[in-house]
Amino acid sequence: MDRQQEFVLRTVEERDIRFIRLWFTDVLGMLKSVAVAPAELESAFSEGIGFDGSSIEGFTRVYEADMIAKPDPTTFQVLPWRGEQQGTARMFCDILTPDGEPSLADSRYVLKRALAKASDKGFTFYTHPEVEFYLFQALDLDAPVPRLVPVDRGGYFDHVPRGSAHDFRRAAISMLESMGISVEFSHHEAGPGQNEIDLRYADALTTADNLMTFRTVVKEVALEQGVYASFMPKPLAEHPGSGMHTHMSLFEGDRNAFHEPGSEYELSKVARQFIAGLLHHAAEITAVTNQYVNSYKRLWGGSEAPSFVSWGHNNRSALVRVPMYKPGKGNSSRVEYRALDSAANPYLSFALLLAAGLKGIEEGYELPEETSDDVWELTPTERRALDIRPLPQDLDEAVGIMERSELVAETLGEHVFDYVLRNKREEWTAYRTQVTPFELERFFSIL
Ligand code: GLN
Ligand code: MG
Ligand code: MG
Ligand code: MG
Repeated sequence: MDRQQEFVLRTVEERDIRFIRLWFTDVLGMLKSVAVAPAELESAFSEGIGFDGSSIEGFTRVYEADMIAKPDPTTFQVLPWRGEQQGTARMFCDILTPDGEPSLADSRYVLKRALAKASDKGFTFYTHPEVEFYLFQALDLDAPVPRLVPVDRGGYFDHVPRGSAHDFRRAAISMLESMGISVEFSHHEAGPGQNEIDLRYADALTTADNLMTFRTVVKEVALEQGVYASFMPKPLAEHPGSGMHTHMSLFEGDRNAFHEPGSEYELSKVARQFIAGLLHHAAEITAVTNQYVNSYKRLWGGSEAPSFVSWGHNNRSALVRVPMYKPGKGNSSRVEYRALDSAANPYLSFALLLAAGLKGIEEGYELPEETSDDVWELTPTERRALDIRPLPQDLDEAVGIMERSELVAETLGEHVFDYVLRNKREEWTAYRTQVTPFELERFFSIL
């Protein structure tokens, strides 16, 4: 047993932990959990815990259902919302086949594989997500069409006196910090009841794990306060959606490889090629970064969500934004990808963003001219002249583009690639066959 594993066993003993939840993520980014007793921990570390993979979204076919979850001791944390006595802790798991090989269906492995590729080139990939979500009053949650009443009428950066959002953010952040997840900013967002919490940057695997914890913590704290938190990309048609803008940088050792003093915006060639890669492959990866039918209501609903493939320096209509450079802060050089939404699978999304950026570096893609205009204000002809292409307009288009992408097939691996395509086509068919309130309202009485 290694030192990390020993540390976990000791802590479980000392802190009177009664349940250890083993966490992993299905292909759509849903958290899965199996609890084990402390007595099982040693064998969980050595052999893993078996489970029936055929019941997990995207895991396996029924005839090869046995899978193994092996906890990663470096991710051990006590869950604060379960109380001090007879506590509960969790660890993230790697998923293995019965032969002990990494499972090709494991999102965490997809990201690890992408990170290893970066590491072969000497790069560590850091991410820093800004997560937006809504808080609603907990009304009719089980109704087929729940009534969505936001908890307040606040707007961007509003300080809502006696507002529940304030207490909510404070409770959520203390809980996150007590689990070792640092929060950089938090504020009320533009929509009523909409909030944003930004995690401090960390290597992408840690950030992806942290996001899974984040979603759980936010939902738990909401329940505790009698409200409901939703990461749905666009819950309210008339208000902004919930994006998960992600800031990214590549480091070579201690040095930010995106930074180059003296060049434009202090961006290195590596950074420019990385951005070029993101732009070149943006449409191909959108079915994963924006994986639901509802995601496209956000992307095409205005309110600072990107709809076109462009980059800009501090341009908030751009897909990729280069934040204002702060003199003397070379290590904070980074690029922000703004399409990602709060319901994405962070492991698969980060793997694809990294792969797209690395491709730009490998192939030496040329970065197109930056866009300084609000791309929404341009006419279609002007956009064409500037070669500004749209992002996919709906899930169907996104899946069609992804299907032809070598980069996505290679990065996700055949199993996950095929599963996502199948699952998303099924979602689109189910959606397309609906007769919506829009149609009834608009056409029924006149046709
Ligand atoms: N909510 C917007 C989005 O969906 C972002 C708003 C902002 O952070 N400036 O992307
Ligand atoms: Mg922000
Ligand atoms: Mg925001
Ligand atoms: Mg942002």
